[in-house]
Amino acid sequence: YAREELASQCTGMANLIGVHYLGVATICASWNMRLMNQVMRDTAEGEKTGDPCLISLAITEPGAGTDVEEVELVARAQVSTHARRVEGGYVVNGRKIFISNGHVSKWHMLCAYADLDNPAESMVMLAVKNGTPGFSFGRTEHKMGQKGCPASELIFDDCFISDDLVCFDLNQAKKQKRSMKETTMQVVDYVVSGSRAGVGGFGTGVARGAYEEALKYAAETEVDGKLLINHEWAQCALAEMYKNVAVSRMSYVETNYANGMYGMFKALQFKPVFYYLKYMPAPIIDKFIQPFMNLGLTTWLFRKIMFDWQKAEDYQCTSGWASLSKFTATDAGVRNCQLALELMGQDGLRHDMRTEKHLRDSKLLQIYEGTNQLNRLNLFKCLVGRGYPQAQAFED
Ligand SMILES: Cc1cc2nc3c(=O)[nH]c(=O)nc-3n(C[C@H](O)[C@H](O)[C@H](O)COP(=O)(O)OP(=O)(O)OC[C@H]3O[C@@H](n4cnc5c(N)ncnc54)[C@H](O)[C@@H]3O)c2cc1C
Repeated sequence: YAREELASQCTGMANLIGVHYLGVATICASWNMRLMNQVMRDTAEGEKTGDPCLISLAITEPGAGTDVEEVELVARAQVSTHARRVEGGYVVNGRKIFISNGHVSKWHMLCAYADLDNPAESMVMLAVKNGTPGFSFGRTEHKMGQKGCPASELIFDDCFISDDLVCFDLNQAKKQKRSMKETTMQVVDYVVSGSRAGVGGFGTGVARGAYEEALKYAAETEVDGKLLINHEWAQCALAEMYKNVAVSRMSYVETNYANGMYGMFKALQFKPVFYYLKYMPAPIIDKFIQPFMNLGLTTWLFRKIMFDWQKAEDYQCTSGWASLSKFTATDAGVRNCQLALELMGQDGLRHDMRTEKHLRDSKLLQIYEGTNQLNRLNLFKCLVGRGYPQAQAFED
């Protein structure tokens, strides 16, 4: 709801905050408890001192966008960010582009590949902090909307990342029950099931913002001697916009319900965990629980539960619903902006009416977090075609 509320006013601001949680979700989805403890403590410290410590997620490369968002496609992606195994860590070379919050984040969750010819089996997820030798920022993109949230280029030039900052790689995946490719898919699905629901919230917010602008305009503006709100065609347009907001909201609420039942937030449904987090004072957690976070055993246990014990139908459900919400709400956002502009005529084009800003902002939502085409295919794969062995998704 918070994302919807923010996006109803400014999707750039909503994304500035939302993308940080994409970074957070990525660390959490790897269930690397030691690294989670380290990076999240930096973030909490930033909150206390008023010096924000944001986290970005860097996957997209100049030659690979959609391909690296979907495990089925990664195998044929033209990736170029290479993580070479050396003693004590990895040396990274390559570039990432269109990374939201890149320039304003302190930590960057980086996806690189140990074998560029076999990316599906060799993804390496690393936590990179600003100031690491060999890591620098390139250009900031001049994009059509969401200008409050910078999209950055990240450059890695013989950048050494030590083993303690390796979030997930083949060595770690070997300890899991499933193959490297399947475990990578679980990590990705945990992340996008949460983040695509969030983008669904953005889409709903934009749809609502455009609807509210149009409604206010229709209630105050006369056309042909009577208020616009009393013209039947305008009433139909407003009803359509209202429906778009309501359906979009239901889609992300339903997705979050699926995440709570079968996805990343499942652990919170376990009553002892729920009450422990709710009532345990922070100093006690710091003193007695924190040391356990750094034990390899803790990561092993969480990965056992969250990876090995997760059923295929669980991640199909959360991933499928997340895709549904993402394209339903973001398409509705763009559609409501168009309807609002049609209703407002030339007035809608003025910057001070805000509808044209909503339109520019909303178009970006259809592209990131997997384009809406990709999300339709993912919904097909997860929820429609799964009962039909002859149905093959992502084959072209
Ligand atoms: C504002 C903004 C912020 C972003 N933030 C981030 C970020 O924080 N981190 C990050 O890593 N990335 C980020 N991205 C990148 C984003 O995830 C990619 O733009 C997206 O994955 C699409 O990739 P692409 O632009 O390379 O398009 P392409 O992959 O080149 O796709 C072009 C077109 O082809 C279609 N297409 C491609 N492959 C297939 C296929 N197999 N089947 C069907 N259709 C296909 C696509 O749907 C699309 O219509 C951001 C992008 C934007 C615009």
